[in-house]
Amino acid sequence: MELKQRKESLINHLIDTGVLKTPRIIEAFKKIPRHLFIRKDYIRHAYDDIPLPTFKSQTISQPYTISVMTEALEPKPGEKILEIGAGSGYQAALLGYCVRPKGKIITVELELDLVEFAKKNIKKVKLKNVKVIQGDGKKGYPKESPYDKCMITAACKEIPKPVIEQVKVGGRIVAPVNNFFGQRMMVVDKLSKKKLKKGDLGSFVFVPLR
Ligand code: SAH
Repeated sequence: MELKQRKESLINHLIDTGVLKTPRIIEAFKKIPRHLFIRKDYIRHAYDDIPLPTFKSQTISQPYTISVMTEALEPKPGEKILEIGAGSGYQAALLGYCVRPKGKIITVELELDLVEFAKKNIKKVKLKNVKVIQGDGKKGYPKESPYDKCMITAACKEIPKPVIEQVKVGGRIVAPVNNFFGQRMMVVDKLSKKKLKKGDLGSFVFVPLR
């Protein structure tokens, strides 16, 4: 099967199983081809619903997981969103498509090789509203704060305090957080400066936030 057909069939599968719901997010999955964010040696698996290696023992998440997280974050046009863990740049590009034309994505990545990989991949889809920054995402990225929302794509022990501070009141954070039961996908709404409402979307597997 051609990549194009494989892409269509993966997206249809994610829609049919009820994971992908929002028209703008579905459009983003159609317009941002995952195979442009995959290492050459794994391209044939670009539209399999599995995580794939990037570099430095890191991964690009499984399309199912990316769908769940993107739907949970509810990205809207005009929003400014912080991502922690740019990896391949694919998640940032999907978000960039959802918030365009006026919204903006700042994605922070620790590994220099992956910063370059993400930048190169994002260029291919011609999105001008996604900025890749090298740094430690545990500190957030104060320079561009405040953010409407944040997505963390590596498992953390707890959501880093600077990240909570840099998200606006009324904003949302989606992140895999380690607890007694393993890694849980948490949806955290910042109701006020001190008050957080936490939801749990179930168990997922991520590389750790370092
Ligand atoms: N969102 C990515 C997948 C991310 S995998 C995609 O769409 O492809 C998690 C990434 O988090 C890895 O690339 C890893 O290098 C990065 N990471 C781990 N700890 C980090 C930290 N403290 N700050 C920023 N990035 C970090």
